[in-house]
Amino acid sequence: MLEHLAAPKSKGRVEAEPDMRVRGFANIWATGDCAQIVNANGGELSPPTGQFAARQGRQCAQNIIRVLKGEPTRPFSFAVLGQLCSIGAHSAVAEFFGVQISGLLAWFLWRSVYLFKLPTWARRFQVAFDWAWLLLFPRDLAHLRTRPTDRVARAHYRPGDMILQRGEISASFYVIESGEVDVVRAPVRPGLAEVVQVLGPSSFFGEKALLAHEPLAYSVRARTTVKILVMGRNVFTYVSDALAPLRDAVAEALNRKAVDLRSAYPEAFATLQDVPVGKFMEALPEPLLTPTATLREVGRTFAKYPHEVLYVCSDDRKLEGVVTMTDWMRALSRGASPESAVTDAMVRHPITIAPDEDAAAAAEVMREYRLKNVPVVENRESKRVVGCLRTRRLMAYVFNTMGAPRSADGASREGHDSFSRDA
Ligand SMILES: Cc1cc2nc3c(=O)[nH]c(=O)nc-3n(C[C@H](O)[C@H](O)[C@H](O)COP(=O)(O)OP(=O)(O)OC[C@H]3O[C@@H](n4cnc5c(N)ncnc54)[C@H](O)[C@@H]3O)c2cc1C
Repeated sequence: MLEHLAAPKSKGRVEAEPDMRVRGFANIWATGDCAQIVNANGGELSPPTGQFAARQGRQCAQNIIRVLKGEPTRPFSFAVLGQLCSIGAHSAVAEFFGVQISGLLAWFLWRSVYLFKLPTWARRFQVAFDWAWLLLFPRDLAHLRTRPTDRVARAHYRPGDMILQRGEISASFYVIESGEVDVVRAPVRPGLAEVVQVLGPSSFFGEKALLAHEPLAYSVRARTTVKILVMGRNVFTYVSDALAPLRDAVAEALNRKAVDLRSAYPEAFATLQDVPVGKFMEALPEPLLTPTATLREVGRTFAKYPHEVLYVCSDDRKLEGVVTMTDWMRALSRGASPESAVTDAMVRHPITIAPDEDAAAAAEVMREYRLKNVPVVENRESKRVVGCLRTRRLMAYVFNTMGAPRSADGASREGHDSFSRDA
């Protein structure tokens, strides 16, 4: 902590004026082990001991009161009374006012000094009685089992915070409550090709490392402000044993993640890697719906336009949700009225992607969430939609590029041309 302070330091301690103000500051004070304070009694630096720390604390408080009253401060000054050290077996060594003593008497003095440092007479009597008892009878020992408590906790991260580092052995299972995280191929370096997956609300991670006791293969970083539910290993085991849907979802995720785009379709992955999403971005599925639009209006919009998904946006094209024809039909079959708001049917806070992100990561997102269409937003943290990315378009690019003859430098110009024609 001291290292990060913008205060003058010497040998790892904060330099202080004789009155214990941090050198160069009028209203910041330092005491104790972390401070370098000259003792006005003798002119030596104060040693890092409790004796000095306690006195410095008291005298520093008095100086602060003096400053508040507009009075001059006083330099720290303390006359050392002596030194004591217990060496066990009812024996100690001591130096009091220049007199050296050792053995039982020194031990008794040592105990008495610390006894009188305890607050309240009731506490001193209680401790003195305990000590006297232990002189006559053996210790009453108890063995406590101190297994750490398994936990369920909520964690909050800001954009850019590392949640898990590659190589860590994770003992927890993480469920995203809100926000998005980037799954990152480590070592983390600036550049978009590092992000291999984006996970959003209700997704989870850490399960493979937790179940297989393996070090994490990827790092996980907060992409937006993110809220995460963290389950300790035992809680996760109990809950997943008892709750079949969770067990099935984890098993399914493990199977799905076992085959990623990079390993299953290396050529397709290589084709998309380092190509920005912006290259494939298409126009927004207009008209955009407002959150107050009714399911009747949603139906009419689907009937009129060929979109597979509609975006629900508040002011300034801020994305609130997306609704597919399936969502719309499902809401009606659940009993929603045609006059119900679209917010009853839409998927809130859907996964989004930014134009400067890697198309391979985008393809991985589409595969993981089985999406045909991902909203493209201005940048990672913004929710302002600027276009859409369709799986079909990525597929067309991959098929055309992979099928095209390669030039001498390995690039496939033909593929880009035929993609342009397709587009
Ligand atoms: C083993 C041992 C034996 C000792 N025996 C003696 C002795 O017999 N006699 C004697 O006079 N002195 C003794 N000392 C020295 C004495 O303990 C210290 O000089 C004294 O405790 C210093 O007080 P302090 O308030 O400066 O620091 P500390 O007592 O260390 O207090 C600092 C506090 O700040 C907290 N802290 C640290 N970082 C943060 C953070 N980022 N945010 C919030 N809180 C933080 C710490 O948890 C700690 O509670 C001994 C020291 C040790 C290690």
